[in-house]
Amino acid sequence: MSKTFSIAIDGPAGAGKSTIAKALARSLGAMYLDTGAMYRAFGLYMLRKGAANDPAAVAACVNDVDITVEFVDGAQHIFLGGEDVTTAIREPEVSMAASDVSAVPEVRTRMVALQRKIAEGHSVIMDGRDIGTVVLPNATLKIFLTASAEERARRRCLELEEKGRPVPYEQVLKEMKERDYQDSHRAASPLRAAEDARHVDTSDLTLEQSVALMRDLALEAIGGAK
Ligand code: C5P
Repeated sequence: MSKTFSIAIDGPAGAGKSTIAKALARSLGAMYLDTGAMYRAFGLYMLRKGAANDPAAVAACVNDVDITVEFVDGAQHIFLGGEDVTTAIREPEVSMAASDVSAVPEVRTRMVALQRKIAEGHSVIMDGRDIGTVVLPNATLKIFLTASAEERARRRCLELEEKGRPVPYEQVLKEMKERDYQDSHRAASPLRAAEDARHVDTSDLTLEQSVALMRDLALEAIGGAK
């Protein structure tokens, strides 16, 4: 009961990782860490400098700014040099900047160390691209979460519409495919499933069904300890 566990959730953009991970963390009483937010924060920093897609400049700036994570009423807030950028990092142009900076090995080394430190001593659910392969290689459970590109783009469109910022479906689909391609083909910790990951395809599942399925897998893996 007192033993901690860790769950790694990896997969492409828009597969439902963060929504499912948040619900799962609440239900299992674990900490949820959105690692993409950390790459987004650094991407935003480099975007403001106008150099997000200049790997040499990115590597040179890697220790320039503090990136910290705080939990306010269970919700993750991310700070860039003391500035709360939790909302700013969700701007569409930050997505590609995050993907650009995340391909730089120096950035990954810093983020992975930070992620492990934040999770230390806690039961944790982390989502990202390299959690099962690099950050938590000994995770209690590893999930590779996918859905068809069309379904992921459809969901992202709905999300943007709800925020009052509609973007045409074709554009969302194109940008999503570009980012997935870049994340999967980089040399440093590319997006891929860990060999021992369970594959879950949410294309035909509702959010509730996805959470229920993942909860069953989690309870099986942690031995029904919760
Ligand atoms: O998960 P999210 O879409 O917010 O992540 C933004 C970008 O950060 C991804 O496209 C990916 O390039 C990068 N990322 C990463 N490793 C992680 C999490 C995110 O490379 N663990």
